[in-house]
Amino acid sequence: MVSGKMRPLLENNSVIRVMFEEGKRLAAVYGPENVYDFSLGNPNVPAPDEVKEAILEVLEEEDPVFVHGYMSNAGYEDVRETIADSLNERFGTSFGAGNILMTVGAASGLNVILKTVLEPGDEVVVFAPYFVEYGNYVRNYDGNLVVVPPDTVDFQPNLEEFAKRLTEKTKAVIINTPNNPTGVVYSEETLKRLAGILEEKEKESGKGILLISDEPYRELAYDGVQVPYVTKYYKDTVVCYSYSKSLSLPGERIGYLVIPDELQDSGQVFTSASIANRVLGSVNAPSLMQRVIKRCIKKGACVNLAAYDRNRNRLYEGLKACGFSCIRPEGAFYLFVKSPVEDEKEFCDRAAKHNLLLVPGSSFACPGYVRVAYCVSYEQIERSMPAFLALAKEYGLGGEEGEA
Ligand code: PLP
Repeated sequence: MVSGKMRPLLENNSVIRVMFEEGKRLAAVYGPENVYDFSLGNPNVPAPDEVKEAILEVLEEEDPVFVHGYMSNAGYEDVRETIADSLNERFGTSFGAGNILMTVGAASGLNVILKTVLEPGDEVVVFAPYFVEYGNYVRNYDGNLVVVPPDTVDFQPNLEEFAKRLTEKTKAVIINTPNNPTGVVYSEETLKRLAGILEEKEKESGKGILLISDEPYRELAYDGVQVPYVTKYYKDTVVCYSYSKSLSLPGERIGYLVIPDELQDSGQVFTSASIANRVLGSVNAPSLMQRVIKRCIKKGACVNLAAYDRNRNRLYEGLKACGFSCIRPEGAFYLFVKSPVEDEKEFCDRAAKHNLLLVPGSSFACPGYVRVAYCVSYEQIERSMPAFLALAKEYGLGGEEGEA
């Protein structure tokens, strides 16, 4: 019964399931407190109090027929206006409700915009390491993924290699900043250079190339690092945002697309994307959550960043002290660590023997590295340090961690 298009997904799914099952098996044998699962990007910091307050306020103060009803496929006008105002205030943009399309999280937003623009055979360029689902989303619309190899010096996008990969078939480019899995924030200089390359290519080919900025981690930036707003650098940009991480609401499925007026055929793209929202089966973003988001924005709600920051510092300093090599992440909640051996899957297997569950970089098209997700309890990080040290010693890495 299962289609040929689904079969590779089914096989791939079993790899993820194996990891999940392994975590459960280890927890049963050694006790959950002795298993250090750093594999999942599921926020562990609870949603801020304003979310619960807003839910109760909506239920108590707004008309239930309205709150639970259908609305325009793009979402509630007043919610979209509140989001536009908030973006304008923070980033000096000039969006209105007509530029905001409410979606069922970033995953849905990406699917909506890809369905809106892709013809079969169109190429979508991504930068390794990248969120593995991009490939599946692009294939949903019979597009072809083109992967730019990483610049492992600082993990900013490799723009020299990027320029070489643009062709007549390039329809879109997906960037993700702050980045999963590296935690890197793309600099203003990077975005300006990227925009310059795209503008040149658009001029040469006479075809529009859409830049899709996937930003579920926008609010998760540390040390006062600014995350540049991408629409300011390149006019054919669509921003894909989600509240999954900034309000710790991944299961509620709420986000939005920003489709600026400056974008080529902006009005048509907006209407088509609203239709895509409908025909992909989402119809509209969850109504209650839209009402909640409006109130949360007005309350200035954001997840407790200090908790992630504390985890980030402890893990980064701890792993460096063990002798591992990694770049200090500026955003998101991931650390990308260089495997001490070329085959990082072997390294992950050895790590699992110490009850450390890590994700191989090849899952992000970047072998030789592993992703450590620090959206876990501080205590887990603390408890895991002797295991990281023992692992480091197996590879002859020097380290003081755990001995101090
Ligand atoms: N994009 C990236 C880079 C992600 O890491 C994730 C989730 O982890 C998503 C998109 C999907 O986010 P959402 O839960 O909003 O669909």
